[in-house]
Amino acid sequence: MEGIPSYQDKKFGTMVRAALWLVTEVGEGRIFTKTQLREAFPEVSQIDRRLRDLRDHGWRIDTSRDDPSLLQQEQRFVTRGADVWIPGRSKAPRHKSSLTAAQRAKVLQDDNYLCRSCGIGAGEAYEDSGGMELAKLNVSRRKVLHSGESKVPEYQLVTECKRCGNGGGPDREVDLDALLELVEDLAPLEQRLFAKWIDADQRTFSPIEKVWGIYRTLPQESRGEVAKAISDMTG
Ligand SMILES: [Zn+2]
Repeated sequence: MEGIPSYQDKKFGTMVRAALWLVTEVGEGRIFTKTQLREAFPEVSQIDRRLRDLRDHGWRIDTSRDDPSLLQQEQRFVTRGADVWIPGRSKAPRHKSSLTAAQRAKVLQDDNYLCRSCGIGAGEAYEDSGGMELAKLNVSRRKVLHSGESKVPEYQLVTECKRCGNGGGPDREVDLDALLELVEDLAPLEQRLFAKWIDADQRTFSPIEKVWGIYRTLPQESRGEVAKAISDMTG
């Protein structure tokens, strides 16, 4: 295609190469599968995510969730957005237009009506307010970075209480790829425990953590007694 660089040109970041692949290999309106995408970028981990980054640049790529006529492994390249391969066109918009009521309601529901910064629930009282100040939840944008090839941050919606949103501190941000690497490095037992916490959307305490929680509140004399007992047990 005239004027459009090759998606195999590695001088571009992965997100840009994914855009070029869509335009030159898939074509607007056409369906592609996850397998085709991975085969086109065999050396790139998290290619699905890089592809999703294009949505921040006005690209529309539907999954089976957006379009029930698609199979689960299929996606449709609906329309092209910004020409991200042209320098200066790949800057992510800092803020997008305001949310619809339905989008807002979905974010709150997805987040179980909990502030994802401090954990307080809608209408719960802040502990330090003596029960006087109740939490109000808002939806805000959180910067999500990928330490992989694409340096373009993505902004995802998250539930935050008014207090955390007005915190005035630095914007919270997370490097998702770095987190995923940490998760991969956990021991299998820890990964299973982590999966349980994710299911429950809260940390469940193992017996040793419960014991520690009680121990640390003990007066010195009692702590000494426990210390002696464990020392006898472990020899
Ligand atoms: Zn909060």
